[in-house]
Amino acid sequence: MIIILKSGATDEQVDHVIRRIEELGLQTHLSRGTFRTIIGVIGDESKLQSAPLQAIPGVAEVIPVPPPYKLASKEAHPEPSIVDVAGVKFGGGYLGMIAGPCAVEGFERLDQIAGSIKAAGANVLRGGAFKPRTSPYAYQGMGEEGLKILREVGDKHKMPIVTEVMDPRYVELVERYTDMIQVGARNMQNFSLLTEVGRTKKPVLLKRGMSATIVDLLMSAEYILSQGNPNVVLCERGVKSFDTSTRNLFDVAAVPAAKGLSHLPIIVDPSHATGRPDLIPACAFAGVAAGADGVHIEVHNCPEKAMSDGPQALLPEQYAAVAAQIKELAKLFNKTISAL
Ligand code: PEP
Ligand code: MN
Repeated sequence: MIIILKSGATDEQVDHVIRRIEELGLQTHLSRGTFRTIIGVIGDESKLQSAPLQAIPGVAEVIPVPPPYKLASKEAHPEPSIVDVAGVKFGGGYLGMIAGPCAVEGFERLDQIAGSIKAAGANVLRGGAFKPRTSPYAYQGMGEEGLKILREVGDKHKMPIVTEVMDPRYVELVERYTDMIQVGARNMQNFSLLTEVGRTKKPVLLKRGMSATIVDLLMSAEYILSQGNPNVVLCERGVKSFDTSTRNLFDVAAVPAAKGLSHLPIIVDPSHATGRPDLIPACAFAGVAAGADGVHIEVHNCPEKAMSDGPQALLPEQYAAVAAQIKELAKLFNKTISAL
């Protein structure tokens, strides 16, 4: 950070600024020119985040140094990025519609769900073959067999597919089948996994960790970008909170906040954010109104038999109603939904 003092700043004012910065635990470097005095700040600038240095008498301007998420930042890329998932676009005025069951459970069921969500307007099919479960005894997913089914169903309905990878050893396998690789909330800071997906050529759906800040999310995106993969879509899926009335706390402000810092598209996942079918529509609309570049919703045609996340799944007809309203909102906000 660089602090530029006003041209008439007195020695006392300069000393005061230096003392204030040193009190906060940072070092200073003073440079006195004929017309301008500049103070360079050395050290952990996060300590200055809440210090209103601009308010100190004699200070003309406080110039932050570029953020550490260099490639993800708006400074690096002022225009919004568009991420293309096998023809379906996210960002830069495009709204992606991802839907499908939490887990791939078999061909027939996925085929039926895919048919109904596609008819409702979804343009990317989701389904987990590797499931990150809190309990080691809970359903873990079908593995490669699930990837094959997802690919087959996606091809049959001409829908691109997205699926999660949890283990760096399986990135190559998942990349072979999928159009978009999901990194789940629990793995947002699995840095070796981020590095591996960064080495692939497939777009990545990076979900926000449940206790991660927006800057943490952007730093994780930076791991992927720095490996040469520019196609990252961020996802707000709720954060941990004290309130047990929803599964997580849907942070809708994260959407415009991330957009203020980064060119990367960001979508919302009201299914995991709320865990409640009755709240999903309102939160989906709020996300779109806040500027989201896509909506991710879990859909199941028999939630009571779902192997994972049944209680939060929308029925196909419920999804159709939400999707119809999202399409109306998209028009209002000048967003285009890629046709399949
Ligand atoms: C999922 O998409 O099914 C999932 C596990 O999401 P998250 O990582 O956001 O919990
Ligand atoms: Mn799920």
